[in-house]
Amino acid sequence: MSARSIFQRAEIAYSSGDAPEALKLYAKAIRKILADEDVTQPFLPAGMEPPDMPRELIGAIWRNLCGFFRDPALGFNATTAPDAYKLMASFKPSNEQHNSYQAFAKRGAHGLAILKAMQITATFTTGLMAWDKKDRATAARRYQDALALADTHPPFNSKSPKAGLETWVCADVQQTRDNLKILIDTDTKHAIILGEETIGRKETRELPKPSVRFEPDGSISLDDQVSFATDVCYACGSRGAKMSKCSKCKKATYCGRECQLAHWPTHKAPCKAVTSASAS
Ligand SMILES: [Zn+2]
Ligand SMILES: [Zn+2]
Repeated sequence: MSARSIFQRAEIAYSSGDAPEALKLYAKAIRKILADEDVTQPFLPAGMEPPDMPRELIGAIWRNLCGFFRDPALGFNATTAPDAYKLMASFKPSNEQHNSYQAFAKRGAHGLAILKAMQITATFTTGLMAWDKKDRATAARRYQDALALADTHPPFNSKSPKAGLETWVCADVQQTRDNLKILIDTDTKHAIILGEETIGRKETRELPKPSVRFEPDGSISLDDQVSFATDVCYACGSRGAKMSKCSKCKKATYCGRECQLAHWPTHKAPCKAVTSASAS
């Protein structure tokens, strides 16, 4: 059975209310394309696609698959939908030699752009899923990974993307950027409230006054504990999800080599104090 027919079966399952079956079929259809079909084959006849939809069949199915995992109301995750989740998670950015790399590479630049689109949207999706589990640090890391990957392909960062794949990915990239900015701004605010500007990711503190949190479902909750999603650059004060650490004390974090070098005269003494204290 062709991937297109499997996809049609998925849409029938979904419209009859069977989302788990639809998700299973999405994964099956994508595996079928990766195995022996053209990853660039069109989704609908030219001119019939909505402008924000990928023009490729694999992109259209991928959009639905990621969409299912992004909707907390559907309750899909690594436990409830292991096969589809495994497929999505295999499209992480570190997988430069993805096991289906050849299926994309043999279609040239267009094929490789589709692979990158799938990696960016999958990484953003796993970030959103971490966020739903209140794991802010993992969410921030995934958002940063997705943005770093988008930076390697300018059309996915365009302010006026072309209809199709680019419009779809650009919308995700913009949302990723917005979400990461919210995490960074919140951490910055909390660090100031706590008077501990160098507090780093995964560290948790009690807030003197509860902080208001806006949930994705529109509800509002109060938090009296905060866990940090980002690290701060000890030199310039910017925050981010991926900072490099001082190799000596493993504590000071920097946005880049320049900041680390610039900060060394200031950091030298505290760094020595930390390393000699842990050595004794
Ligand atoms: Zn810096
Ligand atoms: Zn150090």
